[in-house]
Amino acid sequence: MARYTGPVCRLCRRERTKLFLKGERCYSLKCPVSEAVTDRHSRAYPPGEHGRDRMRQGSEYLAQLREKQKARRIYGLLEKQFRNLYDEANRQPGITGENLLRNLEMRLDNIVFRAGWGASRRQARQFVRHGHVMVNSNRVTIPSYRVRKDDSITLKKSAREMFPVRRNMDTMERQLPAWLESRDSGFEVGVRDAPVREQIDEPVQEQLIVELYSK
Ligand code: SF4
Repeated sequence: MARYTGPVCRLCRRERTKLFLKGERCYSLKCPVSEAVTDRHSRAYPPGEHGRDRMRQGSEYLAQLREKQKARRIYGLLEKQFRNLYDEANRQPGITGENLLRNLEMRLDNIVFRAGWGASRRQARQFVRHGHVMVNSNRVTIPSYRVRKDDSITLKKSAREMFPVRRNMDTMERQLPAWLESRDSGFEVGVRDAPVREQIDEPVQEQLIVELYSK
């Protein structure tokens, strides 16, 4: 499946917010949109020659578009995948925006990221593609695989000693959301239930995405 392979910091700069796409660097002063960076070194404006000119207030449509792009970039999806997920969320009972976020959160690569095994969703995706992750004792190599209630996601024993995994687990100290349960010293994650909106802490206004796609 295709994926974005270009520089990721420019995606954060375009959204003018931290999307945490790069792992360790996102928590350091090297982050170009970090609030801790002095004005002189900050690059918290859209990339490109006319980046600073694009700081002006935009239309309602622009706000909706940016919100959709932000969500898509946080979870690392291309437009077509994201649109398909939206269409599916629209068909499901309940509130479309919440369904969409829930479907995004229950992707296998997101679980690997939430578990703290991957520093970023991009790295988590790589771990899945490389066959390091098992769901209910079966190897699953599809990052978009959707986990379900009572599923058990484990990191293969051979992957537990890998340097990036050890470093991520030692340094990231990522808190598991309440809908997931940590087992086996953090190398296994159980899905208690599908998350509700309050348990999803990504800064996304999903109703703007629904408004955009409903036009
Ligand atoms: Fe780059 Fe991470 Fe900062 Fe985004 S949050 S600009 S990916 S370092």
